[in-house]
Amino acid sequence: MRCPYCGSLDTQVKDSRPTEDSAAIRRRRVCSDCGGRFTTFERVQLRELFVTKRSGKRAAFDRDKLKRSIDVALRKRSVDPERVERMLNGIVRQLEATSEGDIPSERLGELVMEGLKGIDDVAYVRFASVYKNFREARDFEELLGGLGRREPEPGEAPAGNDPAGEEP
Ligand SMILES: [Zn+2]
Repeated sequence: MRCPYCGSLDTQVKDSRPTEDSAAIRRRRVCSDCGGRFTTFERVQLRELFVTKRSGKRAAFDRDKLKRSIDVALRKRSVDPERVERMLNGIVRQLEATSEGDIPSERLGELVMEGLKGIDDVAYVRFASVYKNFREARDFEELLGGLGRREPEPGEAPAGNDPAGEEP
């Protein structure tokens, strides 16, 4: 498993145990080169899912990529990683259960927003601000209105967070 911090392939498993619901194995890993610590999850994938973008481009659904965009939204928020994992599992199960063929990227973005709304308001606003691009200031006001008028934290502009997993 490649280190997400320095890219080294020399990483070791320090701890391995099932998640609360036993739907996955959680592994704590440490990088031998930079000392970075990270967590990986091993889980069942029932079938291959595909995401279609507005451009018409089609790509295999990448759970890890989706997780990374959610992690950006959750940066410096104290949210239990297992809660995020359960949210992701829920999203994937919904996609597996309901999608007829391909999943529109809009649907994926909406599912994530729904999930984040229940976990952390700030992460929700961050994710939504990237997802919706806020072409109009009104969109942003409507969103804040829905949360009871809270301001995003200063200097916390999200960056590089693409829910659709679009490649540059
Ligand atoms: Zn490293």
